Amino acid sequence: MNPVMLITGAGRGIGAATAQLAARQGYTVVVNYLRDHRAAEGVVSAIREAGGQAIAAQADVASEDGIRGLFAIVDAELGRLDVLVNNAGVVDVNCRVEDMDFERVERMMRINVAGPMICAREAVKRMSTRRGGSGGAIVNVSSVAARLGGPDEYVDYAASKGAVDSLTRGLAREVAGEGIRVNAVRPGVIRTAIHASADNANKVDVAGQRIPLGRIGEPEEIASAIMWLIGSEFSTGSIIDVDGGV
Ligand code: NAP
Repeated sequence: MNPVMLITGAGRGIGAATAQLAARQGYTVVVNYLRDHRAAEGVVSAIREAGGQAIAAQADVASEDGIRGLFAIVDAELGRLDVLVNNAGVVDVNCRVEDMDFERVERMMRINVAGPMICAREAVKRMSTRRGGSGGAIVNVSSVAARLGGPDEYVDYAASKGAVDSLTRGLAREVAGEGIRVNAVRPGVIRTAIHASADNANKVDVAGQRIPLGRIGEPEEIASAIMWLIGSEFSTGSIIDVDGGV
């Protein structure tokens, strides 16, 4: 049976690109999404038409019930889990910290921090050799914002990704002796719909000029880094910047 990879937020963008690449490399992929059923089914269909295996799984990873339900689908339909990619994440409209309300920050932390942390909990329960599992790998999708801080745009988002980096380093050491490697990729500006969701659609047009390599990145370039980390058997607790040199 193929190894199984669960990718949160894989209906579009970086998650969808990772799903396609993973399927080409022989994984059965669980394409998690929140609302856009049609997009997720599109990713699954494209994978199947190319000869790969995938299923779509709706779940809100900002809720514990949603996460439990998602892993229950993996257990029932596939019966194993080898890789978790904690990819689902959101940004918000540009806002200085002095103008942020509590609800904004709480939402950001639920989706971008609590979600990956509790998904990692469920993955470790299934993968840990200490619990009878066969080991595995987790890749967290952080952001270059964790390093830059997101001033005048979204310090809350940057802080949530800083937490993802700490999760990566801490969990990597916690489960290193249990057959599980935990790494992260920190993308720079990547051509996805996330910027429109932040009312910042033209970010992709102007950002390229400020990036040393002179352009923004493509989702497939992050997918390659994620797959490299999954395959790099001497890497754990590593955080790789893929950001055009910012
Ligand atoms: P995107 O195009 O906006 O796609 C986000 C995906 O996540 C969608 O499939 C969406 O599902 C899903 N999602 C959102 N909230 C969810 C929830 N609560 N539960 C389950 N799924 C949820 O995003 P992207 O640009 O590919 O970003 C992916 C990751 O990369 C994020 O963690 C982001 O912070 C990080 N990142 C992105 C960039 C960039 O420039 N794009 C840069 C640095 C880091 P629906 O389609 O069903 O709504």
